[in-house]
Amino acid sequence: MKRRADLIAVMVIVLMASVFPVHLLPSAPQEMRGTDGQLSGKQGQVLLVKVPVDGQPKSVTGLFLKRRIPFFVDSAPQYMGLLGIDLEDAPGTHELIIDLHYPNARRRLSYNVLVMKETYPVQHLTLPRDKVDLDEESLVRVKAEQDQVQAVLATATQERLWHGGFIEPVQGTMTGAFGRVRIINGQPRSPHNGEDIGAPLGADVVAMNDGVARLTVDHFFSGKGVFLDHGFGFLSMYFHLSEVAVRDGDSVKRGQVIGKVGASGRATGPHLHWGVRLNGARVDPYSLLKLSLREGEPSDPGR
Ligand SMILES: [Zn+2]
Repeated sequence: MKRRADLIAVMVIVLMASVFPVHLLPSAPQEMRGTDGQLSGKQGQVLLVKVPVDGQPKSVTGLFLKRRIPFFVDSAPQYMGLLGIDLEDAPGTHELIIDLHYPNARRRLSYNVLVMKETYPVQHLTLPRDKVDLDEESLVRVKAEQDQVQAVLATATQERLWHGGFIEPVQGTMTGAFGRVRIINGQPRSPHNGEDIGAPLGADVVAMNDGVARLTVDHFFSGKGVFLDHGFGFLSMYFHLSEVAVRDGDSVKRGQVIGKVGASGRATGPHLHWGVRLNGARVDPYSLLKLSLREGEPSDPGR
């Protein structure tokens, strides 16, 4: 519950780019170290970063821990980007570089981002070995499925398809499972990279924003699932469905039904596993719901 309260504290941070001119680089000033409510967030959170920009750059791109973060016009002359802090990003201060590409020039801005540690629940389980260790055939299958997912994650659409605010994909009970670490028979597993929402079998699952159904699957662990590509390196995923209602390549709108809640794959009961990747960062999907993005904003050029 404490974590929920922390999520509500996700802040909109307006960066005063003009205050930190490019000649200060590469070492950013000490006072940007994320104290006093400046650019800072916990592991798994999403920061809405706003940057006032001079003139009309062709593109504005951020780089944070080797992850590329596209920026786009919010309301001129301000640009906006979603900075995802991966659930395993090391706590401490990391640099966010923002490159402004003009037709005949380039400017570089630098900010410090303080990543704070999140405390995730740890679950110790002792299970019979045959319940834990996969047989050879399953191992091969799981590996192939992981490769398929990696290939999809690597080919996300470079234009922005999402706009406005985000919505919860199903009405249900949030279990607080994001980031949970399971230690099975003394062996730590990968942290749980999504949120589980308890909901009745057959309940509608809807798209959290506009996008394209990049991949529909029936996988060993995740069961029947949908990977939505919202563009700009933002993907959402919906697992353990009983039914998938979209096909690969379908365009979807926010709120459109993409499947139904189920318990397919490795699931103990009906629930939705809802995950989000933001430019490679595994973030808590609920942190996106807390961002103050206005409905219908930012405007979509060309639409
Ligand atoms: Zn899950």
